[in-house]
Amino acid sequence: MAIAANLNLIKSTLPEQVTLVAVSKTKPVSDLMEAYDAGQRIFGENKIQEMAEKWEEMPKDIQWHMIGHVQTNKVKFMAPFVSLVHGVDSLKLLSEINKQALKNDRSIDCLLQMHIAEEDTKFGLDKQELHELLESNDFKELRNIRIVGLMGMATFTDDQNQISREFKELNAIYESLKNDKVMSNSIQTLSMGMSGDYKLAIDCGSNMVRIGSSIFGGR
Ligand SMILES: *Cc1c(COP(=O)(O)O)cnc(C)c1O
Repeated sequence: MAIAANLNLIKSTLPEQVTLVAVSKTKPVSDLMEAYDAGQRIFGENKIQEMAEKWEEMPKDIQWHMIGHVQTNKVKFMAPFVSLVHGVDSLKLLSEINKQALKNDRSIDCLLQMHIAEEDTKFGLDKQELHELLESNDFKELRNIRIVGLMGMATFTDDQNQISREFKELNAIYESLKNDKVMSNSIQTLSMGMSGDYKLAIDCGSNMVRIGSSIFGGR
């Protein structure tokens, strides 16, 4: 029951325009089902194989989000069912997602992951790489993917000012894409904020939060 209670508590604090991704990585299907029975339909996983196994076992009205770093050679395992890929940070990966989407006769929504944190361990594009990607001819030929927004992770720190600065920076890039003539039609999602910083992220413009431990407990 703790999972349902945690979920309802978090949902009661989220503004209407904010989508909750319940991050269920490493958790057993029984835990996910508890969240499902409490009404949750969007789950986030960071390993493709684990997500595919859970997809097979669980009800088919769930939307599965891939939130982790994606290895090109594993894209085929999620292409039949994934509803949003958060961590796309290269044209090579985007091309593979496009290819596998085509094989499955569908289109796959993606977020481009931006590097906003101070640490260099986190994946993501910088502003210049983002523009190079979006302006490349190879990108313009991809018909079976759709870029619907951006995703980012702030530095792991207690410094709220720094986290807020990084989130605002990402929000500014997001707003500039929304005002871009070519991109504006599809851009609608800004994925930022996790258990520790989602309130701050929402204050800085996030409309999709990825929350794991505050719902399912520690990992
Ligand atoms: C694990 C993970 C989360 C959730 O983290 P919590 O701190 O447990 O809420 C969010 N985003 C990404 C990319 C993750 O890997």
